[in-house]
Parts: sequence; C-alpha cells; structure tokens
Amino acid sequence: MPTVSRLTPYATTIFAEMSQLAVTHGAINLGQGFPDTDGPASMLAAACSQITGGNNQYPPGPGVPLLRQAVADHQSRCHGLDYDPDTEVLITVGATEAIAGSLVGLVEPGAEVVVIEPYYDAYAAATAMAGGVRRTVPLVADGDTFTLDRDALAATVSDRTAVLVLNSPHNPTGTVLSADDLQAIASVCIAHDVIVLSDEVYEHQVFDGRPHRSIATLPGMRERTLRISSAAKTFNVTGWKVGWVSGPAELVAATRTAKQFMSFVGSGPFQPAVTHALNTQMPWVHQAREDLARKRDLISEALRNIGFGVHHTAGTFFVCADPRPLGYRDGEQLCRDLPQRVGVAAVPVSAFVDNAEPWSHLVRFAFAKRDEVLTEAVARLQTLTD
Ligand code: PMP
Ligand code: GLN
Repeated sequence: MPTVSRLTPYATTIFAEMSQLAVTHGAINLGQGFPDTDGPASMLAAACSQITGGNNQYPPGPGVPLLRQAVADHQSRCHGLDYDPDTEVLITVGATEAIAGSLVGLVEPGAEVVVIEPYYDAYAAATAMAGGVRRTVPLVADGDTFTLDRDALAATVSDRTAVLVLNSPHNPTGTVLSADDLQAIASVCIAHDVIVLSDEVYEHQVFDGRPHRSIATLPGMRERTLRISSAAKTFNVTGWKVGWVSGPAELVAATRTAKQFMSFVGSGPFQPAVTHALNTQMPWVHQAREDLARKRDLISEALRNIGFGVHHTAGTFFVCADPRPLGYRDGEQLCRDLPQRVGVAAVPVSAFVDNAEPWSHLVRFAFAKRDEVLTEAVARLQTLTD
C-alpha cells in the first residue's frame, strides 16, 4: 500500500462518503455540515469585484493586513481579546489548515494530543501527520445534553501532553461546554503546561441568548491558547476556505512555519470580501443565528415526533438523534442505509470516536438547510416507521 501507515485510517472522510451516497441516491444531504443558502449579498459582490478587478495573484503569506486587522477587531469586540494583527493573527486555508498547521508546528513525534470524544476527524488526522499520539477524554450523557468527564480529563492530561484540542460549541454533539468544564480544562492545562488549540468555528452559532465564551478569556489561558475560527460557518461560505488562528506570537509562529509549506498562502480575492463581512455584516450573522435556532427546534421536534431520542443542541449546525426507540441499534449501518431507503443522508457519530460503545447508536443530522428542505427530509424520515 503506497499510503504511509499512519495515514491509512484516514483514507476517506465520513463526510465525503456520505455526501457521495447522497448524490448516488438523490438523497437530501443532512450529513456534511454546510448551509444551502448564501451569505451576505454585499460580501458576495465584494468577492466578484475582487476577481474582475484583478486581485488574482498571491496575497501576503500571513494573510491580507486588512483581514488580520478585521479579525483582531472582531475578537476584541466579541470577546474582549486583544491580538496584534501583525504577529498574533494568521490567515489560513480554512480552519482545517489552522488545525493541521498548529498540530504539525507544535507537536513533537511521540508527544500526546488530547482530544474530546467525540472529536472532529481532522484532529486525529493532523495528529497523525505530526507523529503525535492521540488520547481521548469523553463527553458523557447528562439527561439530553453532554458534559465533560472531568475525572478522565484529570487522568489523561499529563506532562506528556503537548496540546489539548478543545471544540466548543462542539461538533458533532451540539454541546456548549459549561463554564465549570472550561475552567477544569484551563486548570489542568496550566498545571501541566499544555497548549490549548481551541476550535471555535461555531462561535456565532450559540443559541437561546447564551454568550459564546472562549477559553482564552480565562485567567492564565490567553498565553497558552491558539484560537481558531473561520468564515465558513459564520458567513455561509464553506467553499471559500478562509480561516484564521490567533494567539501569542510564538505559538502563531509555529503554525505559520508549517502553514507556509502546506499552502504558502490562500484565498486571495476572498480575503477582502471576508474583511468586509467581519467589519460590516455582523447583523446578518445575528439574524442567521436566530434562523438557525428555529431550524434546530423544527428538526428536533420533528425527529422526536417520529420516535427518535433527541439530544439538546445548544450550538452548531448539528443535532444528534438516538434511533434505538425505532429499532435501530447501529448508527453507522442506519446511515449507510438511509440514502437509498428513505432518501436522506446523515453521519454516524461513531465516525468521531475511538471508543465506539457509548456512541455507536447515535446519528448526526445537519440542519443549516432551507425550511422546505428540512420539512421534506423529515417527511422522508417518517417513512422509517411505516
Ligand atoms: N472544525 C470544526 C469543528 C468543523 O466542524 C469544521 C467544518 N466547518 C472545521 C473545523 C473546518 O472548517 P473549514 O471549513 O473552515 O476548514
Ligand atoms: N465541518 C463539516 C461537518 O462536520 C464539514 C466537514 C467536511 O466535509 N470535512 O460536517
């Protein structure tokens, strides 16, 4: 096999696999998490005029200065976090490159990377690229939500840990970690001198008036946290691949070192358009969040009415459903069958875990879709009970 052994487990992502099944069977794709409507019109117009206006060559390596400034301003406004746009902000090719660049730049071969299980698949693949060793700390079900297993956290993070990857709001469960859970992570990372890679791509999809709290705002954490976000989910442009990472200069420098040789630079004409959006389109983002919360309610209630057990989603694009009351115990098998059987695609939560047992039944549905698409998907899922 030509692929190196440390990457063979990552040959195909679950999102690609389920999206392909959706195409093959003409199914509604509630698997891969992408919106089916566009972002702010003035942002789209800005990107078009950048391209036709001749902005089609390499942008500066760390990102367009005005975008780095806009990212710094945005974090100052939203979180009270101040970063120097020249040394503490780096524009990446989506959050994905921020994740890969950070882990490759910060993790020595054999060092440990702690992820919260279920974990977004890119953390595992990037840890493997770095030659790191993955350790998991599970979320545990608590009523219809999830909380961090703090005993497991204390037992897993050690002086061997280089980086802990945090993701709140959390993909795939929709959990927003409590202030106490964030504090527990902060305390253990300070005690063991661990860097936190905080993936906050869903920072603007926190519902019910709850604020998004970045772990970087906790005492002693700004200096050890790399904060990642992306235009993808904030402005409905998953195809533009404009992300960013911010943190202390020496941590950002580690990411930049790796990033330079992954992509060198990215997304030239899109960077000014995202600058425009960050500076002027936050009212659009806030309206989109309200719409998304309504969609969460729509799909959660409909799934419950069909007979699924439904976990509460506090943020993100995703809701996790338990099909066992309908007689399906294996979420992966159900997801393989669903596109052909009822014409809907979803992803199994088992694709996000090392320890299958507590997760093997769960199925993740992405709900950032037009109401009529969600309504049709629900009608199709209803046929599972026929
Ligand atoms: N992190 C998480 C938790 C995600 O769900 C995603 C998908 N948006 C990414 C990172 C990747 O983001 P991007 O598309 O900006 O690379
Ligand atoms: N972040 C999105 C999800 O979790 C898309 C991921 C992907 O296609 N790699 O569904």
